[in-house]
Amino acid sequence: MVNPPRSAYLHIPFCHKRCFYCDFSIIPLGDSATTPGSPRITSINAYLDLLNREISISPIGPALSTIYFGGGTPSLLNKDQLGVLLENLQKKFGFQDGAEITMEVDPATFLEHDLQGYIEIGINRLSLGGQSFDDRTLSAIGRKHTKSQLIETCNWLNNFFKKGMLRSWSLDLIQNLPGLNVYKWFKELEQAVQAEAPHLSIYDLTIEPETVFGRMHEKGNLNIPIESVAQEIDLETNRYLESRGFSRYEISSYSLPGHASRHNRMYWSGSGWWGFGMGATSAPWGKRFSRPRTIAGYTKWLEQQESKPLEKTLFVEESSTMPLDELLMIGLRRREGIHYEELAKNVGWTQSECDAKLKLLEKYWQTFLNDGYLLRKNGRYFLSNPKGMQISNQILIQMYLWWDSLDLD
Ligand code: SF4
Repeated sequence: MVNPPRSAYLHIPFCHKRCFYCDFSIIPLGDSATTPGSPRITSINAYLDLLNREISISPIGPALSTIYFGGGTPSLLNKDQLGVLLENLQKKFGFQDGAEITMEVDPATFLEHDLQGYIEIGINRLSLGGQSFDDRTLSAIGRKHTKSQLIETCNWLNNFFKKGMLRSWSLDLIQNLPGLNVYKWFKELEQAVQAEAPHLSIYDLTIEPETVFGRMHEKGNLNIPIESVAQEIDLETNRYLESRGFSRYEISSYSLPGHASRHNRMYWSGSGWWGFGMGATSAPWGKRFSRPRTIAGYTKWLEQQESKPLEKTLFVEESSTMPLDELLMIGLRRREGIHYEELAKNVGWTQSECDAKLKLLEKYWQTFLNDGYLLRKNGRYFLSNPKGMQISNQILIQMYLWWDSLDLD
C-alpha cells in the first residue's frame, strides 16, 4: 500500500505555439494570448474554472510537501490566477512548512515584475525552459524566445535567488538537437554554467511521430547527431558538469548540493501524487490514470466525476500499489537505483518468489552486469555513470522482457 499523496501536479496547457518537437497535451493560443482584451483570456479563465472544480472534488489528504505547476506554459498565467489555484490547494490539503512550490516558466512570457509576483504568492522554485542559447537553434526548433531573452531571464532568476527570495531555480536544455556537435554543445553548457543555474535538466531530444520533427525525420530531413556523436555529447555533459560541482542525481538531472528537485524525486521514489488538469496523469494510490487530452474530453470527464459520490470517483483510495515493473523503471533512473527485494516485497511477493524471479532478471541483465553498465551492491541495482546512464533504455528493455516472461496471473 502506498502512503497517501503529499504532492500535487497541476497542468496548465496553454502555449503561444507548439514547438516542433513537442507532443504534450497543450492548446496553442497564438502570440496575443495574454494581451488585455484578447478572447484567449476567456479560454484561460474557463480552463482555470475547470481546474479549480477538479481540486474541489478531490478527497482531503495530508498536507502537501511539493506542488508543481507544469505545462504547457504556466507563465502565461498571472499571479492572481495562480494565487487562486494555490489558495484552493491550501484549503483542500494544507501545505507543510517549507513545502517546495515549483512553476515552469518560459522566457518571453513574463517580465521581471511578473516573476516577483509569482514569488509573492509563494512560488519558491522556478524551472526555466531555455532549451538552447543559440538563436538559430531556437528558431529551428520552433521556440518563441531568443538568446538575449533567455540570458535576461536567467539574470532575473539569479538575482532573486541571490537575494534569498527564491529557494532554487532550474534551467532546461535539450542535447542532440539538429545541427549540434560536441563543440557547439560545449558552448551551450558553458553558458548554462555562466548563468549560474543551481539545477540543470538536460533532456535528450525524442522524436515523436505526430510533430513537425517527426514528419521531417520520416522524410530524412532532420539533421540530428548520429549515435556516436550523441554519446560523446552525453559524456561531455557529464564530464563538464561534474567538474563544475554538479551531481547527476538522475539520468537527466544535475544539481549543485542541496538543489535536487524534491518533486521529481517524489516521482522516482514511486510515491503517489495528485494530478489536476487536462491530460494530467496522477497516481494518488499507486495506480496511474490520465485525464483526456482535449478540453472537451476533460470537461466531460470532470462532469462525470462530479456527478458521482466520492467513493465511485477515480480519486477514491484503493488498496493497490504501483506495479513493480513501473517502480523498477522509475527507480533505476536515480543515481541510487533500486533495492529490488524491498520493492518486490512491498508489492506482496514472498521471499521465494523474489529469489526465483531475481535469478531470472539477472539472466536478462547479465551482459550489463558483466560489463559494468549496471552495478549491484548490498541488494541495490544502479546504473553506472555515465556508461550505464547512457544506455539506460537497453537495460530497461531487458527488464520489460523479463517482466513479460513472468507468469503473474
Ligand atoms: S513551450 Fe513547452 S509545452 Fe509548449 S509547445 Fe513548447 S515544448 Fe511544448
